[in-house]
Amino acid sequence: MYSCLEHIEESMDRFLDEYGKLPILVEVEIEHKCEHCDQVAVYKVIEGMMVEDEDEL
Ligand SMILES: [Zn+2]
Repeated sequence: MYSCLEHIEESMDRFLDEYGKLPILVEVEIEHKCEHCDQVAVYKVIEGMMVEDEDEL
C-alpha cells in the first residue's frame, strides 16, 4: 500500500492488522497517491522478509 509521510504510521498499523506481518518501507519510484489522502505517496509499505523463510544458501 502507498503512503505519504503523514500517514506512514497508519499505513504500517493497517498492514500489520491486515496481514499480521512485519511491514517495511520502500521509496516510491512511480508517482502514486497515498491511500489515506490525495497527496503524493512517498513510501510503499510492503511485506518484510522473514529471515527464516528463505534460508537455502
Ligand atoms: Zn496520506
